[in-house]
Amino acid sequence: MSTQFSINGLKATIEGKEILKGINLNIKGGEIHAIMGPNGTGKSTLASALMGHPKYEVTEGTVLLNDEDLLEMGVDERARAGLFLAMQYPSEITGVTNSDFLRSAINARRGEGNELSLIKFIRQMEGKMKELEMNTEFAHRYLNEGFSGGEKKRNEILQMMLLDPKIVILDEIDSGLDIDALKIVAAGVNSMRSEERGFLIITHYQRLLNYITPDFVHVMMQGRIVKSGGPELAERLENEGYDWVKEELGIVDETVGQV
Ligand code: ADP
Ligand code: MG
Repeated sequence: MSTQFSINGLKATIEGKEILKGINLNIKGGEIHAIMGPNGTGKSTLASALMGHPKYEVTEGTVLLNDEDLLEMGVDERARAGLFLAMQYPSEITGVTNSDFLRSAINARRGEGNELSLIKFIRQMEGKMKELEMNTEFAHRYLNEGFSGGEKKRNEILQMMLLDPKIVILDEIDSGLDIDALKIVAAGVNSMRSEERGFLIITHYQRLLNYITPDFVHVMMQGRIVKSGGPELAERLENEGYDWVKEELGIVDETVGQV
């Protein structure tokens, strides 16, 4: 079955304050959607709420992945169902090596009785690390500990490539990357494009979209998607910034306000 991800009327609060004010979005397998927007407009909140971060309380709406209700699932079940999030600020976990983490994540996703053998896992991991121009030394380091910003982002893409998710959410995967690293990350993403997989790429800048061409571009302000279009929308935002969108829609303060 081709992937179908649908977010309907999603509202979420943090510490009692409403941040997401009704998000509607449909992503089909094969499509790349970009969400762009100024800081503080709720983009990362959307990513975290979709993944099931306990700090964010969903108060209204539905999120379906191939007719399965994601909001009824815990974080690990969402991952098993095929949702993947590369976080804007990946966590460091001391005491767990990157390869141990990856292997248990892959095996959890594959399910009992279908685990990957150690040899196959290592072969796959090293192959993908090579594609991402990562030193295999990173397999044995503690997860993200002491990784530079760019190394963390590459490591998120490594996880994505190995986990073979159905819906990929990348939150500012481009931040902190120099142009060479950006190209490598983009190539990793492009290599994973398929009819079975949909992407939601959250980015502040248009530059990533020079390397990953989106099918749809959405602008987020005040916890809502306020404008949608094609790749030309990202170009206009790059050239003219966000002020024209605010003027067009009569928005004075684009953020969701201080908590
Ligand atoms: P963006 O990713 O678009 O920059 P965020 O979703 O990170 O925006 O933040 C939107 C609003 O929600 C901001 O006002 C931010 O301060 C608030 N917020 C997000 N996460 C938290 C949190 N964990 N604790 C308190 N406030 C938060
Ligand atoms: Mg953010």
